[in-house]
Amino acid sequence: MPEPKGGQRHASMRTNNQALVLANIRESGHLTKAQLAQRTGLAKSGISNILEDLFAASLIEATESLADNPRGRPGQPLRVSQRGPVGIGIEVNVDYVSAAAVSLRGDVVATRSTRRDLRDLDPREVCEAALELAEACAREAAAVGYRAAGCTIALPGSVAPDRLRVHHLPNLGWRDVDLAAPVAVTLDTLDLPLGVRIENEANCAALAERWYGQCFDIDDFIHVTGEIGIGAGLIQGGALFRGAGGNAGEIGHFVVDPNGPDCTCGGRGCLERYVGLGALAEAVGTLPDAEALLVRLRAGYGLPALATAATHLGVALASISSLVDPTRIVLGGHLAELYDLLYPHLWDAFTRHAPHARVVTQARGGVRSSNLGQAAAVRGAAGLVCENIYTDPASYVARLEPAHA
Ligand SMILES: [Zn+2]
Repeated sequence: MPEPKGGQRHASMRTNNQALVLANIRESGHLTKAQLAQRTGLAKSGISNILEDLFAASLIEATESLADNPRGRPGQPLRVSQRGPVGIGIEVNVDYVSAAAVSLRGDVVATRSTRRDLRDLDPREVCEAALELAEACAREAAAVGYRAAGCTIALPGSVAPDRLRVHHLPNLGWRDVDLAAPVAVTLDTLDLPLGVRIENEANCAALAERWYGQCFDIDDFIHVTGEIGIGAGLIQGGALFRGAGGNAGEIGHFVVDPNGPDCTCGGRGCLERYVGLGALAEAVGTLPDAEALLVRLRAGYGLPALATAATHLGVALASISSLVDPTRIVLGGHLAELYDLLYPHLWDAFTRHAPHARVVTQARGGVRSSNLGQAAAVRGAAGLVCENIYTDPASYVARLEPAHA
């Protein structure tokens, strides 16, 4: 690989050092400039320049800002800003749209949600509905001093590597849909320095589990999202595993019975035809709503359908565990709400088919329910923007500059 030229080398060093300083402040909670110099090995003068940029972009603040000097006294500890950039997350699902603004510290600053059947809508109309919620969240966040930095739209389908096109979203009937144009409209309205990207919603939910949920200290786990569709996000070695085309984890279309019912994907007997919220509700004889499902099951109706679904899920998860060997499996969406009822059948099937999996050694803790509720994907989507800032603060700072010029 050729050596970077002087200017490039300088720019890339600056990028790395900004990220290093911000990561140290994040990890410790608060640090003085002297402590930063000691921890990073950087010269104090260099750190001063970096802090200048981080202050200007509201990424950091003094632990006690002063009226005449919001950056505090010299020697005062610095921390990640309580009022700085927020990531905007949007989740578009089959029968609802939701949005959230999440700060760099992981606080949920604003949320919006609306229930609406999106199956017969044009993708442009869906985007309009979603972006309206995002705008409302950005406005609410701005009213209390935050700035919307970027937006991620989480969708239950496969997303192209450019993160602006949807390859296939079977439950909404979308195939090769380009969202660049509607997304450009939002960019204009919201003035987002980091732009808008699309991501698979199961991936977003898994990342939320890693950043805000029970798996912050687990490097290898699977998060299974239960909605109308079923999807999984695979975290391996602490990072999201996307696969060659970005579509790893499409477990809703694992075939559990080749002679089973037709699926929206064109196949037959897919896992989500048994375990998906719509399919399970239909089999149990109620509306596709987790609460309604729970009431009916607790009253003793539809238990054989639930047992079949749980067994299929257990078999599918055993196969995945044999392949990727996770430490833990977390169930989200309606699967979290039905966890107590699903668990005995699921665990029985799992241990029969993968008796030596690492998950089995953890007993009930090995397959557990998420406590992030329905907001997992939308928080993960917003969190992706925040993580981009942590990974590369220099890009965020640079994109703010034209507005300040
Ligand atoms: Zn299918």
